[in-house]
Amino acid sequence: MERKQKENGVAAMAVCYQGFDPAAYLQYNYTAPRADFGRNDSIVPWKLACLHRAFTEGDVSGELLVDIGSGPTLYQVLSGCEVFKKVLLTDFLEVNRQELRRWVQDEKGCNLDWTPYLQHVCKLEGRRPSAWTEKAAKLREVITDIVPIDVHRPHPLAPDALPSAGADCLVSCFCLESVSPDLAAFTRALGHIGGLLRPRGHLLLIGALGESYYFGGPGVKIPVVPLNEAQVCASLKESGFTLIRLEVYTLSQDMRVGVDDVTGVFFAKARKD
Ligand code: SAM
Repeated sequence: MERKQKENGVAAMAVCYQGFDPAAYLQYNYTAPRADFGRNDSIVPWKLACLHRAFTEGDVSGELLVDIGSGPTLYQVLSGCEVFKKVLLTDFLEVNRQELRRWVQDEKGCNLDWTPYLQHVCKLEGRRPSAWTEKAAKLREVITDIVPIDVHRPHPLAPDALPSAGADCLVSCFCLESVSPDLAAFTRALGHIGGLLRPRGHLLLIGALGESYYFGGPGVKIPVVPLNEAQVCASLKESGFTLIRLEVYTLSQDMRVGVDDVTGVFFAKARKD
């Protein structure tokens, strides 16, 4: 009975995602004001700064970086692509994998121009903004594949997707809380993705605080597990991670643009025990 309930909750989430619209999602979350590179109190520059710092502190290293639940976005690997020789992108939905493939293969029809993102991260790295073309080429070179994932499975990726030692680092942004029916499922999913990581490997986790829903497209209301900082820390601990740092961003009124009810964003840097 209990197992059936768990399965039903997860299945209901999968149904919600059938209406996910990558173009609308990108428009809602990855254009101004949430992605205003002229303001450092805008959400996206804050996330990029957290990722830049985490990837350049010197403790995160290895061969393979895996992004869990990439969605149609690339911002989360713009710093990591300079550190890791291989980057694997993953998502549950083919429409999102298709969006990513279009960019990687430099095809027409991408729903977002990532140039300002590439330029901004070059600036964070102390490079001239025109180096963005080199960064784009680097990213295209290191992305080895874009593959299906389901974080609710004990083994979220196909058996041959990773080397047997596991990934050296995972990054995951706004995925686990927005695909889980409740806190217990969020924690279980965290444990499942932990299984993809080598011992002592790093997890860089970004997610929503206090969010109960977001729009994945016009009229596509997707439920989210509302998390607080203490729950994030407890779930990490329970799933076999040691927290290195937790940073929190609080949304100002003008960042609340009617596409969700998020109140804050957390960034966690953790290490697998
Ligand atoms: N990482 C992107 C970002 O930072 O904007 C996208 C986050 S979006 C809120 C949540 C993503 O989780 C979607 O791309 C969706 O397709 C994916 N997803 C849905 N169900 C999933 C599942 N069971 N396992 C893994 N990812 C899932």
